Amino acid sequence: MNRTTPEVGNITSEERPGKRGSRSGPGKLYVVGIGPGGRPHRTFRACEAIAESRVVVGYTPYLESIADLTEGKELIASGMTFEIQRCRQALARAAGGDIVALISSGDAGIYGMAGLALELAHADGIGVPIEIVPGVTAASAAAAALGAPLMLDFAVISLSDLLIPWQSIRQRLEAVAGCDFVVALYNPRSKKRTGPLEEAVAILRSARPGQTPVGIATAAGQADQSLVVTDLDHLLEQKVDMRTVIIVGNSRTRQIDHWLVTARGYLDRVTAE
Ligand code: SAH
Repeated sequence: MNRTTPEVGNITSEERPGKRGSRSGPGKLYVVGIGPGGRPHRTFRACEAIAESRVVVGYTPYLESIADLTEGKELIASGMTFEIQRCRQALARAAGGDIVALISSGDAGIYGMAGLALELAHADGIGVPIEIVPGVTAASAAAAALGAPLMLDFAVISLSDLLIPWQSIRQRLEAVAGCDFVVALYNPRSKKRTGPLEEAVAILRSARPGQTPVGIATAAGQADQSLVVTDLDHLLEQKVDMRTVIIVGNSRTRQIDHWLVTARGYLDRVTAE
């Protein structure tokens, strides 16, 4: 598909559902990844998109975290599990002629709102320009804080079985465990959901030594960031919650001082020469 204009469908502004007389000009939906939480990790484009928007829609804590960018704007905040409603509100307002920012944490296209926004725009026949604004995802922020553990091929797996059956998640874990991928685990453990992490560790442990280095980053890039470097055998003893991303190393990952580093192989070549 050759597409230069990121527009979904071909409905003109006159035909847009919910068009409001008070708005002139076409609306637009930005789906914005705001990064892992701290101001320094926001992209310039994310700030620009929010600045341009009249309406900002998001999960309440995310809106609170960007309060410095939203003064004077209309905020539509909602709680967890209201993702579909949130997306529909954002699309409806954009279709009505507003410039709208729909906020995701990290990167909007990685376990964020970008996919749902595009699916709903298509399903509901809403033809409004959409721009997905990428952000620094939790794995990048965590990796940078821990050192350089993602230097080689890595896999990203969410342990949340709210939308994906556990059986599929288990299959993915089994597939990557033996392939020497570095593995970043998102949504690792909540108060109610402790079983998946235990099972994930057992699967990884069946294919990797217990001393395989593991980095645990909670609230990466935020003021209360905490970092732990441990190993697979001791991972379950650590504090892990829904603000944590876990990076399980591969056979080339090791601790250098307090850093977690996956050796890409440059120095092996020098030694061999
Ligand atoms: N779109 C987000 C991910 C949302 S899924 C992104 O690209 O980062 C939510 C999960 O992301 C959390 O359970 C946690 O595993 C991870 N996460 C989000 N922000 C984080 C942060 N600041 N530090 C560590 N992990 C984080």
